[in-house]
Amino acid sequence: MKTEFTPTQLADPDIAEADKILRKCVHCGFCTATCPTYVLLGDELDSPRGRIYLIKEMLEKNQKPTQEVVKHVDRCLSCLACMTTCPSGVNYMHLVDQARVKIEKDYTRPLSERLLRDVLAWVLPRPGLFRLSMTMARLARPLAALLPSTSKQSNPNLLSRVKAMLTMSPKQLPAAGPLGGSVFPAIGARRGRVALLQGCAQQVLAPRINQAAISLLTRHGVEVVLVRDEQCCGALTHHLGRDGDALARAKANIGVWLGEADRGGLDAILVTASGCGTVIKDYGYMLREDPEFAAPAAKVSALAKDISEYVSAMDLPKPDKQSDLVVAYHSACSLQHGQKITQAPKELLSKNGFVVKDIPESHLCCGSAGTYNILQPDIANRLRDRKVANIAMVKPDIIAAGNIGCMVQIAGGTSVPVVHTIELLDWATGGPRPGLN
Ligand code: SF4
Ligand code: SF4
Repeated sequence: MKTEFTPTQLADPDIAEADKILRKCVHCGFCTATCPTYVLLGDELDSPRGRIYLIKEMLEKNQKPTQEVVKHVDRCLSCLACMTTCPSGVNYMHLVDQARVKIEKDYTRPLSERLLRDVLAWVLPRPGLFRLSMTMARLARPLAALLPSTSKQSNPNLLSRVKAMLTMSPKQLPAAGPLGGSVFPAIGARRGRVALLQGCAQQVLAPRINQAAISLLTRHGVEVVLVRDEQCCGALTHHLGRDGDALARAKANIGVWLGEADRGGLDAILVTASGCGTVIKDYGYMLREDPEFAAPAAKVSALAKDISEYVSAMDLPKPDKQSDLVVAYHSACSLQHGQKITQAPKELLSKNGFVVKDIPESHLCCGSAGTYNILQPDIANRLRDRKVANIAMVKPDIIAAGNIGCMVQIAGGTSVPVVHTIELLDWATGGPRPGLN
């Protein structure tokens, strides 16, 4: 794609990066076929190619974001299916991230939306506040039935978003998991030492996921540390275009993780929520222009691993018994498109005795996408229903996924139990049966 940035514009490293990305796009449109919003809405401006044009125009002319640009960028799930499909290697992720930051800086949203985004950006990364808000949402849950349905609302309003939040709140909250600063020694001879990202929403909604990871890892000789003073990875605010907050969190985490690595050694920083993993693996890029943090950020990104990547390399002993449970494996977008991890989780499940089934249209997002299912409830619900219908086609006993957001989203549309891949692996290798709560 031809671009016309001026030399002055190109002196800005972000614009220079956008220019590089845009020039790779050859307008072929292959990406449209796998873009969930294009598949649902059929509008070129809701396709990757359409959004790329809108973003190019906005950046090139240094315009304030228009309502139209904001509408179509907001509808993008950042699922990155387009990046998997693109034959030219267009890094849509870095382009849309830049557009979101510009929108956040230069566009004034309606007051109710600004407030809602402020609340999400403030509450979600803080587990204590998030727990409190979930308790309140649980009490207010019956009110959801009185609010207008989200269906057919391509332009969501505050009420439809509040309804989405209430509907998603859990019926009960599990007890909190272990605190930062906890160390779980390896059982038997130690063969490794890792930090495990505590996560923010995940540690409130499903602490059982990290408990399963700790159980499996320690049983197989790996010491696990929950690093003290670790924060939310920044993914939630990063996807809201609030890079000041996201980068501050990234820097704080880099400091405490590398401090832990210096003190006790770390073979990896393990992540059980692939949405977080994708962003931590991108810290090196996000901080590339920061003279103080560029190198440490790159080091952290190199240490970050999805739990399935790390466990694959552990060469677990063969399980004694085979299970005949049919597992539908849902490949989270952040895992398959963001981190290009597609086979490892399925191979691990198969090797550990489960009957693993691929889901039709597995490249399409389930609609979760961070805060997307709150901010765009209509599209998110349609994608969830499509995902659940596809899952039903393989008649599973259980659904496995590697990301808490997807787990909550899918569980909202099916009665089939949804668990994290690591819970099944822990169970198959001698841990407790998954709680399924
Ligand atoms: S990230 Fe997903 S929703 Fe956004 S343009 Fe790419 S394929 Fe479409
Ligand atoms: S597939 Fe890649 S090159 Fe083709 S239109 Fe989409 S982003 Fe551009």
